[in-house]
Amino acid sequence: MYRNVKNVPYYIFGKGALAQLGDLVFERRKAKGEGVVFFVDHFFRGKDLAARLPVERGDQLIYVDVTDEPSTDYMDVLAAQVRGASSPPCCMVALGGGATMDSCKAVANLMTNPGLAEDYQGWELVKNPPVYKIAVPTLAGTGSECSRTCVLSNVKKRLKLGMNSDYTVFDQIIMDPELTRTVPRDQFLFTGMDTYMHCFETLTGVYRNRIVDALAEKAVSMCEDIFLSDDMMSEVNLEKMMIASYMGGMATGYVGVVHPFSAGLSVALHMHHGIANCYALTVLEDIYPEHHAQFMHMLERQKVKLPGGICKNLSTEDYDTLYNGTIVHDNSLSNRLGPDFKKILPKENVIERFKRM
Ligand code: NAD
Ligand code: ZN
Repeated sequence: MYRNVKNVPYYIFGKGALAQLGDLVFERRKAKGEGVVFFVDHFFRGKDLAARLPVERGDQLIYVDVTDEPSTDYMDVLAAQVRGASSPPCCMVALGGGATMDSCKAVANLMTNPGLAEDYQGWELVKNPPVYKIAVPTLAGTGSECSRTCVLSNVKKRLKLGMNSDYTVFDQIIMDPELTRTVPRDQFLFTGMDTYMHCFETLTGVYRNRIVDALAEKAVSMCEDIFLSDDMMSEVNLEKMMIASYMGGMATGYVGVVHPFSAGLSVALHMHHGIANCYALTVLEDIYPEHHAQFMHMLERQKVKLPGGICKNLSTEDYDTLYNGTIVHDNSLSNRLGPDFKKILPKENVIERFKRM
């Protein structure tokens, strides 16, 4: 059986495209009549973005705190806040990076499905169609704008797992590259690299799909153009990064060894996803020689530094958590290393790599 793949049905792409949000939201208001909920990355608090949004009486504008990556507990708090104001909104809009978009996806599912966020961590657990939702990325690279998941950490269960469902897919994307201009340079590279890592890991694995390969190849080549150029944040590159992220998000396949090591760092040290991927690749020179070399060159070229020693002098318990948080990802590890991946990555080897970061 071949999988029946769902994509985002509509997108608008181009400089200044945010101006079209009003028309799209207006259509939703006609359809249902309830208020609109805007989830905006907290970076934009006090900035002029809010004034550019089509907010009306009865709508809610919620600044999403993305200091930590989205947790199931925080999703429950946001869901209660949205529910408190009205019956399900006619539309939800996310303006931000992966964390804000994932929060919007999770809460839109919770508006029409009973229970808590953690009840839907897994595959195909969302039963009722969610609230209509629009993604407006202000940071590109995670592909959250078009993927079928929203990654949530469950602190109690020590679990990082999304609501994997066709219902989690946005209904509309507005890609306005200008919105990413204010992203700090290192953050732009860390999140942009998520596309690069995801796609090259897929392309170097054994589980393959021809459409995914085609999208991933193009996304990797665009990332090479961007991060090997003189200025990764030139106007052309802001555009390219948004397109690469979109294609990377559609290229959903199995990842490889970078993402498991990155997950270990997130679980043990609460490190954010993009930068954790970057640290992971720095110690995988034997597993991905070409991409490792290219990535180190990109860092140098863009003058972005990864300070060393992040896993030095940790407790035995911390090293255990790093190891367990890595080795648990057997599908991804075997995609690159085969079913005997534990022989290639015995515990001492994994810990030695973390110590080198
Ligand atoms: P993010 O959303 O956590 O944001 C990173 C930082 O950039 C924040 O400080 C934020 O305030 C700031 N920021 C965002 N836009 C800005 C702008 N225009 N100007 C200035 N600052 C801005 O970062 P991210 O890397 O986009 O997302 C990471 C999250 O995405 C993680 O939680 C990860 O698990 C998730 N993720 C989801 C998927 C998916 O398919 N759903 C895939 C990969 C990662
Ligand atoms: Zn990723």
